[in-house]
Amino acid sequence: TDDPWGVFTIGGTISNFYGAKIGVEKVVPGAMQNGLGGQRVLGFCSAASHYSNQTVAGWLGIGTNQLISIATDENLSMRMDALEEQLQEAYRDGAKVAYVVATFGTTDGFGVDDIRAIRELTNRLAKDHGEVPPQLHIDAAVGWALSFLADYSLSKNSLQFSDDLCRIVKEAQELCLGLRVADSVTIDFHKLGRGHYPSSAFLVNRRQDLKYLSRDVSETPYFSEADASRDPALFTLECSRPAIGPYAVMASLNAIGLTGWQLLTARSLELAERLKQKLETLEYCRVLNRNTVGP
Ligand SMILES: *Cc1c(COP(=O)(O)O)cnc(C)c1O
Repeated sequence: TDDPWGVFTIGGTISNFYGAKIGVEKVVPGAMQNGLGGQRVLGFCSAASHYSNQTVAGWLGIGTNQLISIATDENLSMRMDALEEQLQEAYRDGAKVAYVVATFGTTDGFGVDDIRAIRELTNRLAKDHGEVPPQLHIDAAVGWALSFLADYSLSKNSLQFSDDLCRIVKEAQELCLGLRVADSVTIDFHKLGRGHYPSSAFLVNRRQDLKYLSRDVSETPYFSEADASRDPALFTLECSRPAIGPYAVMASLNAIGLTGWQLLTARSLELAERLKQKLETLEYCRVLNRNTVGP
């Protein structure tokens, strides 16, 4: 990460909303004040992504029909050839491509999109067409927990993971590298973080990107003393908000600790793999997500 910053929000849906909104402001500057001005503004996500992306497109005002859903491969990961084709068509039609949501762990089958490939593709196509690159937002509402394993030393293997588990952890570590090139990320602690409902975070890779969401104190009555370096009222959707999310997260992270989280997360991966293996031996069962890395 470059200069990370973020806020707690009232759910993963809302965290995804923040990412999409930054994208809209990047390609239609001043949309916060002037609206979309009749322009066709698009978002992209995978066919296996969470339905909250539809909610977001609708409530954001670009329209649910302007959210382009990209077919996935056998690992529930966005097909890059299909994404390239659809992006090319969008640019050719003169549409504004505001954001691409890559899913890091789909809700049911734990598909992970190739974040680095998406970054390379969107940068290249935007440049070819003389446009601002779209926001690359990662919906890691479920999959973020893999990052507990990102720094685990497989050569020391101090927690004595089995060889099979080490292989899975290595795959998880490689997936986590993709998060580094994201513009923003959704994290739901109430999914795999044993947190209270709702404890969601929205993070940006570069703090300055929050400027796309910020408004002046003159536009936020009751907050005339607000200081943008500290008061989220100036750059967030929420006005009053509960603190239960951040407190629950602090309690859970501190109480369980990094080693505890590594054990819990790795164990869940190990048991998922074992269950898949056993289900596969049943003649009346078929495992549809054999090669995804997640519980
Ligand atoms: C649960 C989920 C969301 C929505 O989060 P809420 O906190 O329920 O609003 C978004 N994306 C994914 C992948 C999810 O699993």
